[in-house]
Amino acid sequence: MHNEFDEFNFDTLAVRAGQLRTAEAEQSEPIFPTSSYVFGSAAEAAARFSGEVPGNIYSRFTNPTVRAFEQRLAALEGGERCVATASGMSAILSTFMALLQSGDHIVSSRAIFGTTSVLLTNYIEKFGVETTFVDLTDLDAWSKAINANTKLLFLETPSNPLTEVADVKALADLAHQHGCLLVVDNCFCTPALQRPLELGADIVIHSATKYLDGQGRCIGGAVVGKEEVVGTNVYGFLRTAGPTMSPFNAWVFLKGLETLRLRMDAHCRNAQCLAEWLDAHPKVKHVYYPGLDSHPQHALATKQQKGFGGVLSFEVEGDKEAAWNVIDATRMISITANLGDTKSTITHPATTTHGRLTPEQRDDAGVSDSLIRIAVGLEDVEDIKRDIARGLD
Ligand SMILES: *Cc1c(COP(=O)(O)O)cnc(C)c1O
Repeated sequence: MHNEFDEFNFDTLAVRAGQLRTAEAEQSEPIFPTSSYVFGSAAEAAARFSGEVPGNIYSRFTNPTVRAFEQRLAALEGGERCVATASGMSAILSTFMALLQSGDHIVSSRAIFGTTSVLLTNYIEKFGVETTFVDLTDLDAWSKAINANTKLLFLETPSNPLTEVADVKALADLAHQHGCLLVVDNCFCTPALQRPLELGADIVIHSATKYLDGQGRCIGGAVVGKEEVVGTNVYGFLRTAGPTMSPFNAWVFLKGLETLRLRMDAHCRNAQCLAEWLDAHPKVKHVYYPGLDSHPQHALATKQQKGFGGVLSFEVEGDKEAAWNVIDATRMISITANLGDTKSTITHPATTTHGRLTPEQRDDAGVSDSLIRIAVGLEDVEDIKRDIARGLD
């Protein structure tokens, strides 16, 4: 499909794509807080409702500010169509509801956002859609788990909290050999670092709450892919069921996209620096970060991503107490499970994000009691190091 922005590069698209100036000739994008739109006549209303004449009807269906965000993110991901949602979880829910029916089967990475696992096992399964969970990096396991009813393969890369990296191209090929779609949650990398659609994925999911906003302000999400899948099925579910994005949040995310690449580059620089420093620290047992030569998928990450991202985790010498000591000794870094913020955040996965898992499931996921995750922010990295050093030393 031809797009008017085809000839522009990423940084230009990030600040220009999707903007529609009104008659007021504003330089910055306007917000349209309106629930409905007015028609010129009864005949025009009828024509809009029948779809004969395109145009706005009601903000659960379309809103100009939301559309500007959708067009900008679609341009950045290299997708035909984007639909914005009220949260990352509603992006995932809308995708599943739109594309699956009772009797279908999903193969999903085990290392996904905890709430996504709960959605699959506690809710989607109630409607007769089963999920098989596999190791993200074990291509054989993915292949073996696919059966005649499999419709979707689902993953996040790099994974949380251990930063394992999936071979997106290989998994897209595998999905397509079996007539399945590959869905990639691109929350950790964003299109500034990784463009899954170019690698063969069919659908990209976002929690805009994280790096797209990047400043910890709003909850939102998005689904990006082909017009015939996202523009028809996913949009159809969304306008009917209603987990749509508010115009105010769309405006915040739209402005967030303008600085996305600059912020991601800075997150990567700080994370790389911190990972190398932790790696050399005598009280640190192991560091998980794709930017380290020792990372098992370092070569793949170098090829597939433009940068290694802002999230890392590490194991300290000792047990849960030792990990909690490091966390409690910080004075600047925020103790919170959120990520993708200018402010660095620190968390103990075993007792928070992964606390609902059984000890065996945590072992399987590689989440030990001494593991700490940091989403590295944009503070001076020397200040971040000092804040962590206090508990380690
Ligand atoms: C936070 C997150 C989600 C859920 O997004 P919300 O905006 O919190 O609903 C989904 N996937 C990943 C990888 C996340 O980090």
